[in-house]
Amino acid sequence: MGKVSPGTVAVLWSSLLVSACYFAPEFRVAEANFTAACQRMVRQQLTAPDRGITNVQVLAAMYKVPRHEFVPPALRAQAYEDHPLPIGYEQTISQPFIVAFMTEKLEPKRTDKVLEIGTGSGYQAAVLAELVGEVFTIEIVEPLAHRAAADLKRLGYTNVRVRAGDGYKGWPEAAPFDAVIVTCAPEQVPQPLVDQLKDGGRMIIPVGPVGDQKLYVLRKQGGKAEQRAVLPVRFVPMTGGKSSATKR
Ligand code: SAH
Repeated sequence: MGKVSPGTVAVLWSSLLVSACYFAPEFRVAEANFTAACQRMVRQQLTAPDRGITNVQVLAAMYKVPRHEFVPPALRAQAYEDHPLPIGYEQTISQPFIVAFMTEKLEPKRTDKVLEIGTGSGYQAAVLAELVGEVFTIEIVEPLAHRAAADLKRLGYTNVRVRAGDGYKGWPEAAPFDAVIVTCAPEQVPQPLVDQLKDGGRMIIPVGPVGDQKLYVLRKQGGKAEQRAVLPVRFVPMTGGKSSATKR
């Protein structure tokens, strides 16, 4: 056998160490558990007859996006359970069913440019990013916006742009949008968001005070917006801007 240089030995050792960590039993078990929990979530919470999510692309996105990467480490074991979870700053990541339901109602298409108000953890933005061309998302709590942007980047989502600011006003420079999704509840539909929707565009938005909110699907057709209520819901209120001006 020829001589092996100390440099080669060092490289061999470090690659051995890296593979040892990657294939460590705990790592594999944890990942396998998350995959199994995610499969169960799709089956029991989304496709079950009493839930009725049927859009195959939406289901594939819900299956693919690692929800446990968007929740605080201490709550990872609960990431795929049938309820919202706290993400800090008194905010929450929505229940998986609500994310899937809203995404399905948005009728996402590969070529769509979508605006989201209320980035939160970035999970809903990631689900959308799997389905549409571009996602623009606004979060009013600055540290949440920064954390979501970092998580989305780390997970390889290059088609999402995150902005820290008041989503009531929308994102005029990037408008018009094919679809708008709002994940915090204003008292009324913000007019700037309707204005920034393309003709033929769709919006899904929870409206009303806590305890009496409904999810609306709004369609803009020939300059007119038509809306219908589809589900009673419970979202955090939209803060900032005009959304809460009536209460101050
Ligand atoms: N879509 C999120 C869940 C959002 S929770 C996810 O997938 O995790 C609602 C978020 O809306 C909160 O983070 C809250 O800070 C944010 N929010 C409330 N009012 C807002 C406003 N005016 N503009 C932008 N974000 C707002």
